[in-house]
Amino acid sequence: MAVESFLPPSNPKITVEKAVKPKPRTEELVTIESPGKPMPAFLIEKRKKASIKSARTKSRAKNTAEPKELARKDSILIITEKPQAAQKIANALASDSPKKYSEDGVSYYELTRNNDKIIVASAVGHLFNLTYSPGQKGWPIFKLEWVPSYERKNSAFTKKYFDMLKKLSKRAKEIIIASDYDTEGEVIGWNVLRFIFKQASAKRMKYSTLTSEELQKSYENPLPELDWNQAYAGETRHYIDWLYGINLSRALMSAIKKVGSFKILSIGRVQGPALKIIVDREREIEKFKPQPYWQVFAFSNNIKFIYPKDIFNKEDLEKFKGIKEALAETKKDEENIAPPVPFDLTTLQTEAYRLHKISPSETLRIAQQLYLDGIISYPRTSSQKIPPAIEPKKILKRLEKHFPQAKEAVREKPLEGKKSDPAHPSIFPTGEFKELNGKEKQLYELIVKRFISTFAKDAIIETKKITLVPTRAKDKDIKFVANGLAIKEKGWTKVYPATLEEKELPDMNGKVKIDEIKFEEKETQPPKRYTPASLISLLEKKNLGTKATRSLIVDTLFERGYLDGKSIKATPLGLKLIETLEKDSPIIIDEKLTRQLEEEMDKIQKAKSVPEQLEKKEKEIIGKAEKVITDIAKDFKAKEEEIGKGLLSGLQILRDEQREANTIIQCPVCKKGNLRILFNKTSHRYFVACSAYPECKTTYTLPPNALIKKSDKICEECNFPKLLAIRKGKRPWEFCFNKDCPIVKKQLEEWRARQANKNKEDNQDAENANSQ
Ligand SMILES: [Zn+2]
Ligand SMILES: [Zn+2]
Repeated sequence: MAVESFLPPSNPKITVEKAVKPKPRTEELVTIESPGKPMPAFLIEKRKKASIKSARTKSRAKNTAEPKELARKDSILIITEKPQAAQKIANALASDSPKKYSEDGVSYYELTRNNDKIIVASAVGHLFNLTYSPGQKGWPIFKLEWVPSYERKNSAFTKKYFDMLKKLSKRAKEIIIASDYDTEGEVIGWNVLRFIFKQASAKRMKYSTLTSEELQKSYENPLPELDWNQAYAGETRHYIDWLYGINLSRALMSAIKKVGSFKILSIGRVQGPALKIIVDREREIEKFKPQPYWQVFAFSNNIKFIYPKDIFNKEDLEKFKGIKEALAETKKDEENIAPPVPFDLTTLQTEAYRLHKISPSETLRIAQQLYLDGIISYPRTSSQKIPPAIEPKKILKRLEKHFPQAKEAVREKPLEGKKSDPAHPSIFPTGEFKELNGKEKQLYELIVKRFISTFAKDAIIETKKITLVPTRAKDKDIKFVANGLAIKEKGWTKVYPATLEEKELPDMNGKVKIDEIKFEEKETQPPKRYTPASLISLLEKKNLGTKATRSLIVDTLFERGYLDGKSIKATPLGLKLIETLEKDSPIIIDEKLTRQLEEEMDKIQKAKSVPEQLEKKEKEIIGKAEKVITDIAKDFKAKEEEIGKGLLSGLQILRDEQREANTIIQCPVCKKGNLRILFNKTSHRYFVACSAYPECKTTYTLPPNALIKKSDKICEECNFPKLLAIRKGKRPWEFCFNKDCPIVKKQLEEWRARQANKNKEDNQDAENANSQ
């Protein structure tokens, strides 16, 4: 890290403590079901007055003003969800290279195919989002409508894409929706179609990989209409999540306002039950009282045998004393171990976490990128199948060039799992190749290896079990065992990382001498905390959330301050929130209710019905959700103050803890206040300041673009505690923040000297350039 980090930022001012969150690049945007954004009521009221109406009337006015003669309806317009997909489709369909046009950073492509003029353009994820209809006061509110996303400040960039599609619509004689094939993609396409193109339906391209071959097939054989099951299931989910999100955050915030405090609090439909699961585990851990127990071992021939039961009663150890001799018996068995099943999203996420410690949400993000690169298939799938239609043998052949292990794929048919998905097969490599680094490479190789191994032979192991029964007559209930394992045939374990550990044991039969009996005292362990990976697997098992949202729900709980740590721990705020809701509004965290809604939405997706019936079903489900929210509102309004008090006590503990975590040492200048790590919102960087501000104005500069935390190390030179600068994807950097520290001063001088030198060189270069 460069020393210029220590140069003072302009205008250090004391503001709130907050983590830096980098803005995602456009290509990184992952379209997700929004778990319900918290928004304080007063902000919403203000926004309503300001923008909605004007934006809508404006766009209508612009429509009519457009000159008619611009329209040359001569093209087939294909619309994708993301810019990168548009480029892939254009390249796949063009006989030679497509023409690329860009305006204001938004590109589209033109090409001809079989004498048809084709334009390929893209949305950028959702171009529309739900908001409440104007004219509703307080809460609960239930009337919602779709509005352009660009009306929201943090989605303003979508305006360019919106405008581009609007412009291109005038040239479209036919429209094909080619967004990602799932509920979200369908809603994105449907909204573009009905709100920008004013069209009821369109042809639909369905594909699972962005490979030329599949894209061409998909273009030649489109579905005649949108997938209405996906469209209605997706829209229902949006409505329900939004209704929950807005109303529950209003409820929580109004409760906390009632007791005179303010904090943006929110709990979504799935977040509540998910948080409850974690809090319950936290309580189990807290309640847990470790118990002593003993394990008994016997040694013979230098082999350690175990008595398979744990002993909780110390007196029971007596019966093992004095055992000197036993009868041994060796049993062998051969066992086939089948390869693991193909990756669906959840198994990919759990394996990526187990093997590479990549978090579930990061895995989803990287997998999405690999899909857009065309090297893996669509990752948001719950399928564990490899259908013949993807021509796996061809893929394996292509993989051989970079993965010699592909030769191990000798099965005619792959081993498949039970789970399936109506929209996509399992996650598989396409056989196309790209140079990758870091986590992308790790994840891609994991996917390749998994795919190959489902075609590889079983592993064959030989297990050996030696049993010792003491020869003393009174010991006939006692048995000691030792287990051995030998790998006879490595099979798929040559390809995919597996945990088969060989352990050699000699054959032992007949009378043997027992050299020693040993007791080891242990303690029972509390239940383990969840990891991000184990939590999403559990949510899946309980049918809470969807494959696409689970990892984000976990992230959101962290962001809101309800969770803490790598192994997931509920914060005091999270604990208090659940405690309060259990007492005063248990419906919010009722897992069953959330699951029921989830099942109803699944039904929409699977129903064999016409759009009118699906729409009716949608209304029914939304009606049910409204009823639940009305009940929650009743609870809340009756017990607002109690709920507010409960939340406030959690907030207070949280704030104290945060303050504690940010307090470094006593201020060396005034000796009254404490030096604390704070965050400046304007300059977006952390700094250190004295808590006695404004009497004491002592401040220290900290490195920018990093999260700053306390470390447990002390500077060898000046004895200040060292701090940690944490940057995404880099090792944390330990540094001394004392500007008067000799080490820091020296580093600064060196840096200034380098700068001066550089300036001199630049001047020299400039002079040389002038004289030529
Ligand atoms: Zn001070
Ligand atoms: Zn120092």
